Amino acid sequence: MRLELGVVLVTTLVLFYGVTYRTTRSRYVGLWCLALLAIAAGTIAYLGDGTAVQWWANPLGSALYALGAWLIWRAARTLDGRHRWPRWLVLVVPGMVLLSALADSPATNSWAGAWALFPAVSVLIALASWVMWSTRRTHVGTLRRATSATGYVVSVYYAGRFVTFMLFGPDSPWFFDVFGTSMTTIVMTFLLVGATFSMTALSYEQETADLRRRASFDGLTGLLNRTTFLERAELLRRDAGRRDVPCVLAMADLDHFKQVNDTYGHEAGDRLLVGFAEACRSTVRSMDLVGRFGGEEFVVMLAGATPDGARLVCEEIAHRLRAVQEAAGTPTATISFGLVDVRSRVPLSELLVEADQALYRAKAEGRDRVVVAGAAA
Ligand code: GH3
Ligand code: MG
Ligand code: MG
Repeated sequence: MRLELGVVLVTTLVLFYGVTYRTTRSRYVGLWCLALLAIAAGTIAYLGDGTAVQWWANPLGSALYALGAWLIWRAARTLDGRHRWPRWLVLVVPGMVLLSALADSPATNSWAGAWALFPAVSVLIALASWVMWSTRRTHVGTLRRATSATGYVVSVYYAGRFVTFMLFGPDSPWFFDVFGTSMTTIVMTFLLVGATFSMTALSYEQETADLRRRASFDGLTGLLNRTTFLERAELLRRDAGRRDVPCVLAMADLDHFKQVNDTYGHEAGDRLLVGFAEACRSTVRSMDLVGRFGGEEFVVMLAGATPDGARLVCEEIAHRLRAVQEAAGTPTATISFGLVDVRSRVPLSELLVEADQALYRAKAEGRDRVVVAGAAA
């Protein structure tokens, strides 16, 4: 039976590693592989039970089981984006289980250290199930909850093992029939195969979400990238036309940005771009759009704004950028803006040209200003 579990585990591990880990390379898939490996190795170590090597094989098996349970918990936490604990902590619980087993006559006692292993596994799997149940990071709700529920079943099962072991001892029929090796093997197979399947689905989901995010947003500033901005701006333009509300498209360019790079270095330049993005985000409203058009050029679409209102928004962005950068003692820059009133019948591509021309005028007139297309100089 144990040999069977070992075989199932190794097969699952190989498939999971080969198919899921090699394609996603995500951290929790890696941790899940390690957990399967630890439990498979533990199962193999337990094969030494009843032989001359039992005195070290059984304690080692228990320690590896505890390690597997710990890794399952860590994998669940990583899924939730929480992984800031020092790595050596991983050794504490398995180490304690190992010492308890070694101190419990492991040469003659098949269940050496079980009183420490059972509660450890029960608690760790319950923690993992709880994290899995409550995480908000993923959308595969039903599958995630089902995995979490499976985890709780295993946790309760191990709690049952602990209680019957302590109350009646390992030779009692209760323990032997319900919580003994055969039943445990079935329960563990059930958990590990089911959870591995679910982990696969979750990791693909995370991968897809990640790709989608990377395809839509600029990596440095977190603003919309050019393509996504244009798609959404087109929707906003049509919507404003349909509802007959004003709307303004603004193109922004940091002044003498090259000098910032040349004087303070490229990293300071990057931080200034991030600062500009934050100034935009904190100024505009949620229905507005902000995108990075390329380099140090940005686009903002202000829904419901008139050119006069938009001018104030742009001035506020420039003011915030300067205030934040100066307060932090980091280099700053003024900004030139070119604005265009979005009229429903003019296509977006033409509006962009007009905004760019207005921006060019703002530069030519001395920078650090807002110029509205079509307005007198
Ligand atoms: P102007 O006032 O006329 O806009 O002058 P400028 O120096 O801002 O404009 P120019 O087009 O001459 O230089 C833009 C610079 O922006 C050149 C390029 O190296 C820098 N740049 C573009 N993308 C990035 C980036 O992601 N990070 C950093 N640090 N610099 C960038
Ligand atoms: Mg510039
Ligand atoms: Mg430029």
